[in-house]
Amino acid sequence: MYACPNCGGGLRFDIPSQKLKCDYCATLTDPYDISRDKDADMQTDEYGVTLFTCPQCGGEVVTTDESITGFCTFCGASTMLDARMKNEKRPAKIITFKKTKEDCKEIYKKTAGRAFFAPKELKDPEYLEKFRGIYIPYWVYDIEYSKDVAFSGMRQTATATHYITDYYRLQSNLDAEYTGISYDASASFDDHISESIAPFNTANMQDFTPSFLCGFYADTADTDKNLYRDDAVSAAQTDLSNNILKINKFTSYNIGDIAKSLEGAERINQEEDDPVIGLFPVWFLSYRTPDNRVAYAVVNAESGEISADLPVSVGKYTLFSLLIAIPIFGLLAFLFTMTPKVTLFITGAIAVISLIAYGREISEIKKRHMKYDDKGFYAKYGPKADEEEIKKVAPGRGAIGAVIGLIIIAAVLIINPVDDYWYYGAAIAAIIGVFITITGIIRRFNILSTRPLPKFLNRKGGDDSAKD
Ligand SMILES: [Zn+2]
Ligand SMILES: [Zn+2]
Repeated sequence: MYACPNCGGGLRFDIPSQKLKCDYCATLTDPYDISRDKDADMQTDEYGVTLFTCPQCGGEVVTTDESITGFCTFCGASTMLDARMKNEKRPAKIITFKKTKEDCKEIYKKTAGRAFFAPKELKDPEYLEKFRGIYIPYWVYDIEYSKDVAFSGMRQTATATHYITDYYRLQSNLDAEYTGISYDASASFDDHISESIAPFNTANMQDFTPSFLCGFYADTADTDKNLYRDDAVSAAQTDLSNNILKINKFTSYNIGDIAKSLEGAERINQEEDDPVIGLFPVWFLSYRTPDNRVAYAVVNAESGEISADLPVSVGKYTLFSLLIAIPIFGLLAFLFTMTPKVTLFITGAIAVISLIAYGREISEIKKRHMKYDDKGFYAKYGPKADEEEIKKVAPGRGAIGAVIGLIIIAAVLIINPVDDYWYYGAAIAAIIGVFITITGIIRRFNILSTRPLPKFLNRKGGDDSAKD
């Protein structure tokens, strides 16, 4: 505990004042002015934390504030977390919380309010109380170019009979600096979420001191520091190349491969050549769905950007379907005034559109489940293609409705019966089929907007990979 210098009470980081505030006497203390014996000094590169582990999913968070405990942020389990003391790699930088919990709840309410079909529990004030402040570790790269680089330039001129090509060796004295290129360093924090709440303004980074964690949790950095190295370097390289091409003296040349000339010219974090850990603030909320999946709401506590999984309540959707069934019947009556063949073509088109939508939903679910696009997760846990699970969550059978509808339409068009009622009958059958497929789309949507319960089993038994 960080004790108040005035009365000895517990200190907590206070967002409006950006200082530590005493629970009892409200004295404000500068976070840099206070330390405990566990904080060690800057040389040791480590500091003492309490590590909380979820007995159900293995998710881990750390804090320097022994007075807070609670449920698991990642899987939403309400069981007590296991706590133990540990030394953790010391982050170099931190962006402190700027949005308070109240701000965060307001932001969430605005988003959830628009989600008409969301289950009502998601809008319950008691549930919103469960938002908790977590610092997410990021690998932060500062990339610098200060070097002479040379690359080839070409100029072509045309005379009446020849093309003349001159080759030049262009030289430039580079002095460029990219600071704060950052990537989520936690395998348990989904890259999708970190992307959708990005960016953090790294100009707001301050030097880290452990007392900033009072009242908050921090996720641990457990992905390899080199995982995003190439991404960071190539981001800097691309921008630098574009800028070189814009240099006035160079615009009259055809310039060769700049990227190649820049290769290896970068310096990362001065001489260190390694990224540093920066802690970035988010408000995090998890919701366990009735079918044992989990939905997250995450708010960037610096900018207020939000990413929320908002599933559709099946009950609400059924009610809505019944209500729109009435205008659909009205629309059908209107269709009856059109020629039978046109009616059939229109319903056929609708069936094809619903099939395309269904197929896209299925492939998106598969992609999400394979986690191919979550580099941090993939590097740590490897391919997790659980074929059984994918079959369970993304079955093809929802497409049957629209397919049967299309078969009926095709059959009627081929047979070309004289009696109009065949056409109308086929159109109605196809509409019913489309309806079944759309219901399937809604079900699949719910799977897309929630996540399977996390399992961080690899972490059990103390994983110290962040230290190497
Ligand atoms: Zn006090
Ligand atoms: Zn858990």
